[in-house]
Amino acid sequence: MLYIHIPFCRQACHYCNFHFSTSLKYEDEMITALAREMEMRIDFLKSKKLTSVYIGGGTPSIISTTNLKYLFNAIHSTFEVMTNAEVTLEANPEDISKENLKTWKEVGINRLSLGVQSFHDQDLDWMNRIHDADAVSNALNLIQEANIEYSLDLIFGTPGLTKEMWIQNLHTAIELKPSHISAYALTVENKTALHSMVQKGQVKESPPELISEQFYIADELLEKAGYLHYEISNYALPGKEAVHNSNYWDSKEYLGIGPSAHSYNGTLRSWNISSNAQYLSFLSAKHNPSTHEELTPFDQINEYLMTRLRTSKGMNIQDWNQRFAASLRKEPEEMINKKLKSGEMISDGENYKLNKTYLFTADSVISDLFAIEDSLD
Ligand code: SF4
Repeated sequence: MLYIHIPFCRQACHYCNFHFSTSLKYEDEMITALAREMEMRIDFLKSKKLTSVYIGGGTPSIISTTNLKYLFNAIHSTFEVMTNAEVTLEANPEDISKENLKTWKEVGINRLSLGVQSFHDQDLDWMNRIHDADAVSNALNLIQEANIEYSLDLIFGTPGLTKEMWIQNLHTAIELKPSHISAYALTVENKTALHSMVQKGQVKESPPELISEQFYIADELLEKAGYLHYEISNYALPGKEAVHNSNYWDSKEYLGIGPSAHSYNGTLRSWNISSNAQYLSFLSAKHNPSTHEELTPFDQINEYLMTRLRTSKGMNIQDWNQRFAASLRKEPEEMINKKLKSGEMISDGENYKLNKTYLFTADSVISDLFAIEDSLD
């Protein structure tokens, strides 16, 4: 599968720590560089057949239709995109127009991931999003008219988002019936405007109990409306789980193109330089913009636990036994047994999963299971 990072946004949202620039000056050069990187790194993937393509960022819906067409020509001349492949574009409401939707469909995009985040203007203002609630409703009308599948992104846990406001957001989302909904908890990341506002005491974070309550309200309301809570932050109507993201959680290989993009092929993990200027100069000199590391058995087992246990399927016990030697499994399995006894995890005989009550704190439960390198000697 292929991920392409478009590192441009119109303005910086206060909470965001993704890599992007708010200057579009080098858009054309960037698109040429992305095409060149694809060609240069094609051998990173064992298979040239793509089951999913994901154009993320940044705000990929910002780029011109000429550049988007150029990018898709490059994808098709480098890889074979399977006829039933999921091809997703991350889009922001302000970029949705009849013309853009027409071009997106023409180049083969069959799914949008729409950054709505909230239906409340006060919340959107606070986030420093460029759009307001009216823009969301116009965008949704156009998307529904164009009959293109979409996933809707929401954020909870923002300061000022009351329980009632969150319930309204969820009800509005449910009425729209998107095939997929992502609901992310706000996190205060280093080097963001939000982090500095919190440090200076200008913003008070939402209490952890309220954030946790909002997580479980989403679980309850969305499941009642027919959505499967198939990963910590993701909900889908049956059969509409995101192919691309599910591939990450199933440890399938992927190539990430563009500044800051990561790649993985089972044995190597690589990451690209996180600077637009340096990325462009690497590519204009035909140099590989990525650094890689070989995954140790210790990395592989921890990655397996971290990705599988985020999902409602959990980890298949037979697959686990086949993939990893008994010596590697010993320490995590001792911990799994403890977690089964404490009720943090459950087993149906075929799979180990997190107990739903612990889903919100999944990262801490899963990290307790990690194999420690010393114990593998
Ligand atoms: S639009 Fe998305 S990528 Fe850009 S700053 Fe906002 S959250 Fe970050």
